[in-house]
Amino acid sequence: FSRLASGLKRSSDQLGGSIAGIFTRRKLDDETLEDLEDVLIQADLGIDTATAITESLRRDRYERDVSAEDVRGVLAQEVEKVLKPVAQPLQIDTGQKPFIILMVGVNGTGKTTTIGKLTQKLTAEGRSVMMAAGDTFRAAAIEQLQVWGERTGTPVISKPAGSDASGLAYEAVERATAEKRDVLIIDTAGRLQNRDELMGELEKIIRVIKKLSPDAPHAVLLTLDATTGQNALSQVEIFGKRAGVTGLVMTKLDGTARGGILVAIANRFGLPVHFIGVGEGVDDLEPFSASDFARAIAG
Ligand code: GDP
Repeated sequence: FSRLASGLKRSSDQLGGSIAGIFTRRKLDDETLEDLEDVLIQADLGIDTATAITESLRRDRYERDVSAEDVRGVLAQEVEKVLKPVAQPLQIDTGQKPFIILMVGVNGTGKTTTIGKLTQKLTAEGRSVMMAAGDTFRAAAIEQLQVWGERTGTPVISKPAGSDASGLAYEAVERATAEKRDVLIIDTAGRLQNRDELMGELEKIIRVIKKLSPDAPHAVLLTLDATTGQNALSQVEIFGKRAGVTGLVMTKLDGTARGGILVAIANRFGLPVHFIGVGEGVDDLEPFSASDFARAIAG
């Protein structure tokens, strides 16, 4: 919890500071409620959550003195209410061998790093993992995954940059099946310059995987960069529709003032949030906890 609390300190400081500015010995009236709603929307929490919080205060404490601390308490409560249903651990179905995870997301959101961290976690749990360097578009992404492979002692299936990604995915599923690996994690490209081409490629990778394993991919995880704020919403929309996203990983929650976006995403899409990234290191991937996040952001 302390990692998350320090990571979200900028978000909570900003929110807490603004709330303290509004509620200095002031009654809860229409003006303070409106100011509070603005602050909550600016903190990327989304209009629905901002309204839920102000309405809850209006219902219970209208025309009464409230302290900034009271307001932060209600904020934590409402945020937890939104996040609780989506805080779900990633279930690895051991009946599926290999359990195939497709990682998708825009370049720079932390896809490759998350694959490395997840591999470390699963390996530590005693599972045998294989990675596939499916971002065949970028030589640097292939090399980066190979570094994670060495670091975690995990084989990486790769081909030279420019190779066909779905062909690589097919080979990776064959190899992971032959080697009886527990989990196969497949990286993918994330260039957004040509969105239709990218989505077409992801759809093709999924079709090809299904030829060998009809129920796969068993999880499609989307990485979102918390620092991009509102942009993350449209990324969930696009990838959700075309790539069949089953769960989210929000990265870079260390040191951002825009952590509130996770609440807006949870409220709008209801997709499971499995993990959060709180740093660049191999151990900086944490299971997502609604109550910890709510406490950390409310300060
Ligand atoms: P990709 O292009 O989506 O594969 O993104 P990368 O995995 O290459 O990550 C892009 C940058 O973000 C790298 O410098 C990572 O070290 C960094 N990064 C990834 N996850 C986190 C995180 O949770 N916190 C921080 N601070 N940096 C992260």
